[in-house]
Amino acid sequence: MSRRNEVVLRELLEHAAAEPEDELDRLLGDAFAAGLDLDAIEAGGTEPIAPLLLAIDGAAGRDEVLALLPVLHRSGLFAFFGWDVTVDHDDSERNLLWLSQAPLGLPDRETYFDEGRAAADLRAAYVEHVAAQLGHAGTSAADAPRLAAAVLAFETRLAALHLRAEERRDPDRTHNRHDRAELAALAPALDLPGYLDALGAGAAESVNVENPALLAGLHDVVAATEPSTLRAYLTFTVVRAVADALPAHIDAEDFAFYGRRIRGQQEQHERAKRVIDAIGADLGEALAQRYVARTFPAEAKERAARMVEAIIEEMRASIRTRPWMGEDTRPRAEAKLDAMRVKIGHPDRWRDWSGLEIGRGSYAANRLNAARFELDRRLAKLARPVDRDEWELPAHIVNAYYHPTLNEIVVPAGILQPPMFDAGADDAVNFGGIGTVIAHEITHGFDDQGRRFDADGHLRDWWTPEDAARFTELAERLVEQFEAYVVLDGVHVNGRLTLGENIADLGGLTLAQRAHARIAAGAPAVDGVTPAQRFFLANATLWRVNINPALQRTLAGIDPHSPRRLRVLGPVSNLESFRVAFGLGDDAPIMRPREQRIEIW
Ligand SMILES: [Zn+2]
Repeated sequence: MSRRNEVVLRELLEHAAAEPEDELDRLLGDAFAAGLDLDAIEAGGTEPIAPLLLAIDGAAGRDEVLALLPVLHRSGLFAFFGWDVTVDHDDSERNLLWLSQAPLGLPDRETYFDEGRAAADLRAAYVEHVAAQLGHAGTSAADAPRLAAAVLAFETRLAALHLRAEERRDPDRTHNRHDRAELAALAPALDLPGYLDALGAGAAESVNVENPALLAGLHDVVAATEPSTLRAYLTFTVVRAVADALPAHIDAEDFAFYGRRIRGQQEQHERAKRVIDAIGADLGEALAQRYVARTFPAEAKERAARMVEAIIEEMRASIRTRPWMGEDTRPRAEAKLDAMRVKIGHPDRWRDWSGLEIGRGSYAANRLNAARFELDRRLAKLARPVDRDEWELPAHIVNAYYHPTLNEIVVPAGILQPPMFDAGADDAVNFGGIGTVIAHEITHGFDDQGRRFDADGHLRDWWTPEDAARFTELAERLVEQFEAYVVLDGVHVNGRLTLGENIADLGGLTLAQRAHARIAAGAPAVDGVTPAQRFFLANATLWRVNINPALQRTLAGIDPHSPRRLRVLGPVSNLESFRVAFGLGDDAPIMRPREQRIEIW
């Protein structure tokens, strides 16, 4: 599906580059042309990041290094920690600045501490990679290996302060509002109020700190680290962020580690595809605006909207009838369902790009300008009420999401195509496809994370203690089911990291199946396959994948979704409707024993 979208995107970008018809075309066309101009990228060398590297080199002591953070963070170069602006969990009409963990150079926290051979090898390869990129950024060959090893040691101390991936899913744990005085007291040596002022968030009276222990502990980690190591860490952070826009030897080194080693990718993608992906990240809505004008028919939106309605009715029936939910919680859950907004296709109003500088001269400068422009847009949101018409994914993307603080599901045009969705196909195909995705997103409003937010998107407990306990017990059983699965080589699924998605996969399949059975009752078999069977086949088709072991291993540590085959086998093993559809015995190997089956929705 993504490849099919890519063909469309490529055509419209080529057209925009060759014959721009308006300013939006000019923007997209220049971004595309600059990304493809390898000669200019080669000739430019590290010039586009030279001012940043110079500033880093000039930071003599630890305080000077820390003083650079607002400058780097304003350009999306997140080091030590990062920030974002999101909906306030206490007041969903307002936006709030979050100070969060910044990504580390290795994919997940555990890789820094894992004593196994594979992780040790990866760390050794990482040190070589950091040394190579430091060399490309001007560090002498004599210093680079030592500094790279010190960067790993520094990141390991940072990682020790990081929350685990599954801990970051806990809304209570990450909800830590600090006013300016509390922020100053949390990490006196960091002068965080000063940081906010320098960032351009001087008007923020309070912020949320995702992980207070990180900020509180940061000073000691910094104090125990040589300034030269801190400078090397920042230099590497800058190079890593824009490696794809720098000369071939830097880009190739980045691919050798992050592409081949971490993701197991054998060959680099074609340049045009990489540039299309980058434009999707930097100018996503501009690209989407052109995409939907080309590809999104009104019928698709109408049919998808009818499916959403049918599935919401199944969720309502489920809320009213599941035996584990008590009478006090039911009406509140229904109120949340009633308040849930649905967005299908694309935004009604498109983003304004005026002020963003994109030209054909420097691809790296374009990318940094786009990052700054986006972060300026986010900072500006602090002064305004929450915009409920905003989209968090560009409409051409093959994905969908539930937003817990806005209490909305969003189904972009990019996912409304075969095999997920086919306006010319029957209900079994569409309910087994996009129907299960829509239902999955709806249930996210009620998973272990989503259920913590009320109908207005506020982090507030609206469950009776008994119902919360019964829900948690069901969820724990799902944790157990998935932890028993092996991803590869003795690596098990992380049942807590994937819990929300596993609840949504099970609930999504359950609700879409019921909606389909109700709507398609009496539909004929096709080629001897019944509608119920075709529903499950359509669903399994979505998750076919060919994935290499390295990527599988990486994903097991960071992806909140289970491996794809388990997104099929895990849920169906609990579903009586699946057993009946295929006429299986109770003891069929694909089914869990009846007493172990889990039904949440
Ligand atoms: Zn999900």
